[in-house]
Amino acid sequence: GVRVRIAPSPTGEPHVGTAYIALFNYLFAKKHGGEFILRIEDTDATRSTREFEDKVLEALRWCGLEWKEGPDVGGPYGPYRQSDRKDMYQPYAQDLLDKGHAFRCFCTPERLDKMREEQRAAGKAPGYDGLCLRYSAEEVTAKMEAGETSVIRMKIPTEGACEFNDGVYGDVSIPWSSVDMQVLIKADGMPTYHMANVIDDHLMKITHVARGEEWLASVPKHILLYRYFGWQEPKFMHLSLMRNADKSKLSKRKNPTSISYYSALGYLPEALMNFLGLFFIQIAEGEELLSMDELAEKFDPEALSKAGAIFDIQKLDWLNGRWLREKLSPDDFLARTFEWASENQRLTEGLKLAQSRISKLGELPNLAGFLLANDVGLTPASFGGLKTSPAETLEIINTVQADFEKMPEWTVESIDQELRAVADKLGKKLRVVTPPLFIAMSGSQRSLPLFDSMALLGRSVVRQRLKIAAT
Ligand code: ATP
Ligand code: GLU
Repeated sequence: GVRVRIAPSPTGEPHVGTAYIALFNYLFAKKHGGEFILRIEDTDATRSTREFEDKVLEALRWCGLEWKEGPDVGGPYGPYRQSDRKDMYQPYAQDLLDKGHAFRCFCTPERLDKMREEQRAAGKAPGYDGLCLRYSAEEVTAKMEAGETSVIRMKIPTEGACEFNDGVYGDVSIPWSSVDMQVLIKADGMPTYHMANVIDDHLMKITHVARGEEWLASVPKHILLYRYFGWQEPKFMHLSLMRNADKSKLSKRKNPTSISYYSALGYLPEALMNFLGLFFIQIAEGEELLSMDELAEKFDPEALSKAGAIFDIQKLDWLNGRWLREKLSPDDFLARTFEWASENQRLTEGLKLAQSRISKLGELPNLAGFLLANDVGLTPASFGGLKTSPAETLEIINTVQADFEKMPEWTVESIDQELRAVADKLGKKLRVVTPPLFIAMSGSQRSLPLFDSMALLGRSVVRQRLKIAAT
């Protein structure tokens, strides 16, 4: 039977792109009476965290995508977290070494950097030059015994091309000369994405791999690994990435991309799934409002275009409005509203901040409403009455905007520190720098404490509001 998976790497805020790929796989399984599973790909130990893993599970659950097997629910092919499978990959790597399909590489990071630099200078594509292929088995053993660190790389044919059929791209041919001798096992013994991904898809009996188009160029490495192991490869489908209206890749600098942004603003998960699902079906005008079951029924991978899925936020707003008006009874609407409010951390934490600043509850909407608004209604007049001149106000906003992009962490403390640093840099007092920011965030000079508000709003909303304030 059909088995598909979503395989997120827990390296950041859960991305709407992950929901888009997950929905495709979920509908594909539903359409074919197959199984949809979830695997966590956390082989990049420096960037993966358990916190992001929890968030990704929570976000996909919020979307209404249920998986039959996963790190939280278990299943017959577990564990479902690659870091917990670390020891399972070793024998496969040894097998490749024994069969001569892989080799140990002792090159130092310094040598590799130099090599890449020379390649770049010569206008060549960067890739391992094969220096360590020259060692005999005895030399390798001697180096290992001497305690030299090494990685394991796969061998790549020197001639010809890898030909395969992709469910979206059709027949694809990629010359082997453009494929790098990929590292399979890193110096610390952890597999790379490519190695773990192929082995796990095989062991988990995955029949179809549907993922973002950024992986299309990696297919030759994967197919070669399947061949080296003597395994049947799955069917590949590479989905076009979601794009901004200007056709550039959907990116958080232009559009909010985290799923939590959409849940916090009160988009219904049904509407978000409806919106994303429309990329996977042929649809006549007037038939856009579809539940998950209806999406699965109409699901048609042939409808996928290579051109890219335009993330049109106005269309999402329109669909969400229709869901609110047409799909919910008045009682459902109230129930969903209260559920959203009580689970909305931005709101509940914001209300706690408001407690000491009001004399009656009726003041709450005015004081805390900006936490939930899509748009705080800024006009040039909003910035009137400040001590700073319009040029200074703009300089403050632009400096904060730029410096926020460089912040690794988003907490009350880090925001506090960053704004103090900005004040120093501009040679101004903190209390001169903050009023324009209050207005940019809330549309008003009287609101909740700034650092806490920014932390609650989250990076993408703050980025968006600063951008609006600067124009
Ligand atoms: P950004 O461009 O906003 O910085 P990113 O490239 O950092 O985003 P990643 O963290 O690399 O995003 O991606 C997280 C997941 O979301 C990946 O599985 C990736 O395939 C998917 N993804 C990222 N961008 C898109 C997109 N535009 N369309 C579809 N999926 C995407
Ligand atoms: N961990 C990869 C990602 O997050 C999965 C790619 C794949 O599906 O093979 O993009």
